[in-house]
Parts: sequence; C-alpha cells; structure tokens
Amino acid sequence: MTPIQSFGAAETVTGSCHLLQLKNGPKILIDCGMFQGHTDHDNSDPFGFDPKEVDILLITHAHLDHVGRIPKLVKEGFDGRIISLRATMELAEVILLDSAKIMQEDYKTHYKKAQRRGEEEKVHLPLYDLDDARDVFDLNIQYAEYDKPISMGKNLHATFRNAGHILGSATIQIDFEEEGVMKTVVFSGDLGNQKDLILQSPEYVKKADALYIESTYGDRNHRSLDASIEEFKKAVKDTLINQGNVIIPSFAVERTQELLLLLKQMYYDKELPTCKIFLDSPMAIRATRIYSQYVQELNEVANDFLERDGSVFDFPYLEYTLKGEDSMKINDEESGCIIIAGSGMCTGGRILHHFKHRLWNPRNSVIFVGYQAVGTLGRLMVDGAESIRIYREEIKVNAKIYMINGFSAHADQQELLAWMGQFEQLDKVFLIHGERDKQEVFKTAIEDKLHKTVHIVEHAEGVWI
Ligand code: ZN
Repeated sequence: MTPIQSFGAAETVTGSCHLLQLKNGPKILIDCGMFQGHTDHDNSDPFGFDPKEVDILLITHAHLDHVGRIPKLVKEGFDGRIISLRATMELAEVILLDSAKIMQEDYKTHYKKAQRRGEEEKVHLPLYDLDDARDVFDLNIQYAEYDKPISMGKNLHATFRNAGHILGSATIQIDFEEEGVMKTVVFSGDLGNQKDLILQSPEYVKKADALYIESTYGDRNHRSLDASIEEFKKAVKDTLINQGNVIIPSFAVERTQELLLLLKQMYYDKELPTCKIFLDSPMAIRATRIYSQYVQELNEVANDFLERDGSVFDFPYLEYTLKGEDSMKINDEESGCIIIAGSGMCTGGRILHHFKHRLWNPRNSVIFVGYQAVGTLGRLMVDGAESIRIYREEIKVNAKIYMINGFSAHADQQELLAWMGQFEQLDKVFLIHGERDKQEVFKTAIEDKLHKTVHIVEHAEGVWI
C-alpha cells in the first residue's frame, strides 16, 4: 500500500499540495499552492513534511492556489526535479513574480504603519521575495507534453492530459509498480468546462485505482455559457450606444483572454460599435502574449482568428497599455472605451483609478465577469454599494453594475460526473479542492449516479491506495 497525504486543498478550495510516497521510490509532490481567503491555514506554517526530502514536484497548472508556495518550498530546501507543461511554467513565472511583488509591497506598508506605533518587530516578513520566486526557475525543470508519459524511475511514469481549465492545465496520471503489480493514481487538477471560450475540452482518462478529483462546484450546475455571452454582449453594446464607457475588472490569466476573443468575435460579426479597447494591465498583457505562443493548445475560435488575420487576439480596436502614464491618459477619453484592468476583485491595481474617474457617470458601466470574494471592493459593488472609498475619496456609484456569473473555468457537477463516467476502470474516488458542505453533496451524487466508493480527504490524513 502507498500513502498519499494532502497538505492543502483538503475540505477547502485553496492550497493544493499532495504528497505521494512510493515505497523504495521517490517522494512526489503534486502542486504546492497558496492558501487564499478565509482559511484555517497560514501559508507561513510548516508544510507538514520536509521539503528537502521531496524528489519530484509535478504541477497541474499555474494558478496561485496550485503554485503559490513553491518559492517557500525551494527556500526550505527542495532542489529536486519539476515536471509540468512549458506554458504552465511561463504563466507560473508571471504569477509568482506578481505575488512576490504584492507581498513585498504589503510588507512595506504594514512595516511603516507598525513603525509609527513602535511595533515593527510584530510585522511578519513576506513569505518570499522576488529573488526567491526567481530561484524556482533555476531548478531542473522538465517540460511535459500532453499524453506522452515521462519516466520518473523504473516502472514509474507521469502522463499529463489536457484538463481544459487554463492554458497548460493538466490532469496527471501516475503509474507505478507495487509488489509486482502496476497501479494508477490520477490527480484531476482543476477541470475546465466541456464548452470553453478559448480552450479545448478536458481530455478523458481511462483507468484509475484511485482518483483525486477537484470538487469546487460539485454541488451545482452553472448558468449556461451561451446565456452569459449574450448578457455580456448586450451590456457592452447598450453602454457604448449610450455614449458611455465599459469598465471590466478582470483576472489576468484566462478570463482576460476569453474576453478578448469574445470582443474580437463581436467585431467580426459587426456587433461591436466603434470603440477603443484598452487592455490596461501589464500582467494580463504578459499572459496574453504567452497564450498567443501556444495557439495549438487553444480551441478552434482562436486558431481561426490566427488563420484569418495572423493574430489570435489583435484587431483594430484593441490597444495594449503597458506603461502607467498611458494608463492615466485613458482618463482623457470621454466616451466609447472598453477598459479591461486588474485586479479581478478590485483589491488594488489600475482598475481603481478608472473607478475614481468613471463611476460617478450614469452613462458608464462596470461588468463583473468573475467571482467576487466577501470583503473585496468588487463584492461591495456587486452587492449594491451606493458609494465606495478610493484613495481616501468617497466616489458615488452611478454607473450601471452588471454581474455575469456564467464564465467559470471550473466544470460543474454534471460535467464532473460526465468526465468521471468516461473511466473504463475507476476504483476509489477521493474528493479534494472543495468546501466540505459542497463535497458532501457531490459525494452523494457520485454514489447515487456512478456507484463508486467516495472519501472526502482531510488535511494531512494518510490515505492508503
Ligand atoms: Zn485553477
């Protein structure tokens, strides 16, 4: 029997980190993500295992809750091999450097405030800095390709399959020998939707003695994507026709690229009034460049655009705003703009100065296209705040607020069940990456519909497969 322990994403959605300890073989870690939002775990807590003893790190995808603690892992002694898709490592670099920068800035602000109170020794150092984040990319990195097994030892290999969640995302299948018998454990990673705005559909896996599957939306089904697309198009058109401006707070990776394709499609379908679209986020611009380098991993829409005009994303209305001063110049535009900026939940970034200049005007609109966590400025606005405070100034919210819920990067319950239904052999199912109450609902659905044995994994518990 072989033990697996989860040191994150157990009864919670963030902090993905699973350790597979093979008898007389390597210790393999699958993801090493950051805990985010309300959680019982502190990212600065010890991992629960010795990073020096980990031999191989497999990465399912580049989201912060799957890669965010890797610099800490390296800082604490991990110097083994990393295996992931090349696109994942490129996106992870953008994401980890950004995360290090934000943590350093937060630290400086807290330190200054604490200094005034004479309590600077109470301020925690950032989890890692920019140099620590860069160190990750000096390690021995091996790039996987979808569906090509990579050897990790005798009768031991990992196969990455397209998970359709974000660019480079993978379901990882690990085959290993135990006492003369081959066994297979599969980590679903985050699974995308069957129908996606930019990616290909998730690939199926045929066999698993044990399946570790995400359960973020295991309890529900999404609104249809088509309805959300229509809602988005209408909001954009109504605002522009009314001489207003559209502001879209967006996550830099995946959602932004989806919106760009959607707007480009509207342009070609002659559904988009003449306008200027500003992609006003250096991080999103970097991510968009990475997406355009991996067009073979994108869907038909993206490939058709490339064939049609030589670019996946570019079209005449779109401008990339890299420099801060150019971002400020957007304020001079009176009408007819679509501004896409971060951060996605409006907790910082350039979106704030656009709000300051435009929220008072009832002709303008804000279109939220992603989840807004409790306690964020984005959530306040979605919940109907009449005014908000930005840079110590009270700003009246007269702009129209739209919340479009159907753009999810995660499969919903029926898609998760359909994906699991494609296995020819599936013995045991372990639920990770979900909140406990949702996992209970999902567990019952799997038992009822697929008649499988299901276990909800607890933090650090030893699961034997
Ligand atoms: Zn993810």
